Order: sequence, then C-alpha cells, then structure tokens
Amino acid sequence: MTSPLALLGGTPAVTAPGPHFAWPPLSEQTTKAVIDQLATGVSIYDRSGIIEELEDALADYHGVRYALLTSSGTAALYSMYAACQISPGDEVIVPAYTFFATVTPLLHLGAIPVLADCDESGNLEARDVAQRITDRTTAIVVTHMWGTPADIRALRTVADEHGVMLLEDGSHAHGASVGGKKTGTFGRASAFSMNGPKPLSAGEGGFLLTSDQEVYYRALLHGQYNKRCRNEIPPQHPLHRYAVTGMGLKHRIHPLAARIALDQLAHLGEYLEGRARFAALMIEQLADLPGVHTPEQMPGIRSSWYGLILRYRAGELGGLPIERFYKALQAEGCRELDRPGSTCPLNLLPLLQHPEPLFPELEGSFNYKPGDFPHAEAFHHNTLKLPVWHREEDRALLGQYLEAFQKATTRYRDMLE
Ligand SMILES: *Cc1c(COP(=O)(O)O)cnc(C)c1O
Repeated sequence: MTSPLALLGGTPAVTAPGPHFAWPPLSEQTTKAVIDQLATGVSIYDRSGIIEELEDALADYHGVRYALLTSSGTAALYSMYAACQISPGDEVIVPAYTFFATVTPLLHLGAIPVLADCDESGNLEARDVAQRITDRTTAIVVTHMWGTPADIRALRTVADEHGVMLLEDGSHAHGASVGGKKTGTFGRASAFSMNGPKPLSAGEGGFLLTSDQEVYYRALLHGQYNKRCRNEIPPQHPLHRYAVTGMGLKHRIHPLAARIALDQLAHLGEYLEGRARFAALMIEQLADLPGVHTPEQMPGIRSSWYGLILRYRAGELGGLPIERFYKALQAEGCRELDRPGSTCPLNLLPLLQHPEPLFPELEGSFNYKPGDFPHAEAFHHNTLKLPVWHREEDRALLGQYLEAFQKATTRYRDMLE
C-alpha cells in the first residue's frame, strides 16, 4: 500500500497480462466435439442428433418436460411469449431493470410492457408488481438479474392470486436455484440466452423450457416449422395442419453452437461451484471496505454469479463520484470491472420512451421517461460489476483486483479536490 494511486501517477496494482476473464472456457475436448459435429452434420431439420441430445440434457438438468433450442435468447423469449398467446393490448408486467431483450419481443406481439421497479438486489419487487396489475394484465415476467434469483415465491404468489402467468427470463441464471429448485422452472415457461458471456454459452443460441404441452407445440410453430412440427405435433392436434409453415419465422440453432453448449453443460456444475467459492472470497474481502456494498447472501439461494454486483456508496468516500472511483480502479488495471451500459432501466431507452416511429400500432400505449423508476435508476447508477472467476489458477489475479480496491478505498482522499 505504499504506491500512490495509478490514476495519480503511481504503479497499478494489477500487473497480470490480459485477458483477465475469458468466456466460455473452451478446451481441446470442445474443439474435438465441434470438429466431430462438422463431420456429422451442420444442418438439422428435426429433433435428432445433437439437437435431441442437448434438448434432452437441458430438460433433464432442469427437471422439465420440454426444452426447445433457438438461435438466440431473444428468439426464445419471442417464441415463449407467442406460445403463451400474449396478444395485442395485453399488459405484461416486466422489470424496469433488465436487458432490453426481455421486453422487446412483446412489442412485436402488440403487447404493452408495464415496467415495475426493483428491490435492493436489483430484482423485480413483488409489491410493486402487485400494484401494477389490472384486468388487462396477462403475465408477469421476471429476470434473475446477474444470476441471483429474484424473490420468486412472492412473485409466484402475486401471479397466482391474480390468475396471471408467471414467465422467467433465465438468461443470467443458468443453474441458479431457490430451495434446490432451478430458476426457469417456477412459471409456465422460461427462456434463456446462451450468448457468448452467459453462464451456459453456445457462442450464440438460446432455449425455452416448459412442461406445458400446448406451449411447447405453439413454440415449435413459432420458429421451427415443417419437419419438426410434422414429427412432433400429433396429426389429430388442431394445430397440426399448420406444421409445414408454422407461423413463418425461423429460430433454429446452429448444430455447431448446440455442440459447444452440450460440452459447456457437462461442466456447468463445476463452473458454478468454482464461482461460488470465488464469490464467497470476494464478498468476504470486499465487505469491510468503505464505499462498496457487497450482495447479501440469503440461505437457500444459489446464484450463477453471472456477475458480482457491488453497490457504490459515495457518502462513505467523502462524496467521491462513482465515475472517478471507477476511473481509479481502471487505472489500477481492473479492466474487467464494468459499469453496465446497455443493461439499464428500460425507461431510459428511446424505444420505451417513444416507440411510435418504429411501432406505429403502439401509439399512445406507453411513453416512459427518466425518473419513472427511482430504485432501478439508482441501482443502475451505483452498480459496479466484477466477473466471478472459477478456476483456482485465477486466485492470484483476484488478489490483485482486491488490492486495487483496497488502494482506491484507502487513498480516496487523494482524489477529492
Ligand atoms: C443476453 C440476454 C438476452 C438476449 O439473449 P440473446 O441470446 O443475446 O438474444 C435476453 N435477456 C437477458 C436478461 C439477457 O441477458
């Protein structure tokens, strides 16, 4: 602790060369599996081969009846909403604080996203949700932000009391659980992204989970069509006659992406255990530092640790603005420390403020504006996100990051004018 802050000309605390965090972790085994898949087939039109293997593995892992792979998480969300028959004019309660793709597919269905505020953990607050229910509400959608499960039991109760569907966006929270029950299994259906940095990654891809046969058939018709639909929707089902065209969209995953995801799924347990160890260590070491508030560890709640969310408290560091604190840590070499940008309260985005030029049919439906969701906006402004490592060999790197935090929180006065 002898060196001045790197921001002010001292030596950076983090000296390890980059990259400091790479995801997904790919091995020789991954490469071999992908090369084998290249030889086996790169276009799969039905539920066979790697598609069947991965869907079965995902359904087993979550303990649900159906898993349906898609080209992206956005596509999975779109299919989920369509399959749950969200219709024009329906009000759907969604988190104000989530990645926008949780909500954007609803606009394509003519539904009205009713934003609700978050609690202390950044997740949808059940009480605020309850207040926003009207007789036009058909569903509540919850995202488990940064991998930490939302208060799903309270949300389930609100949904049940009002007879509306509960749907989950599990894109941050693969393998997270509440009382041993996995996220993505609490509502009528759930959707997950397997995009690059997500806890379970295919590079690009997504999937939908449900135990509801009707939802599954309709999800097939939304984005899979022809062979899959002809094979899987029984001939006597009233929707079977639409099997050839489905609804005319195509959301199929690439078989090579599916192969990567199957390889990743085999290691997910090990990744999550490693992350839990690192997260515990990070929380223990950061908890006593002024200026940063670490997440509460709740009994029975298991996070996927997609990110470790630190809430900045300027008041504990003489009012030092978060921008300056963040710059200081970046100067110390914490290049993986992030202030999430595109994942922000949705009322700050032009699309949710003035959707009309892009969605004329939504004219007059909603016009959100800054200030509408004070908890979400404060949460977003004060959030600093660290990756959570899982490999023992990253302990020294973590040590350097923690040293940087110690330096910045000890020497903060040097940054005050
Ligand atoms: C990444 C993400 C999505 C979108 O998934 P894509 O695979 O990028 O389409 C949706 N919701 C959340 C919460 C996400 O993090």
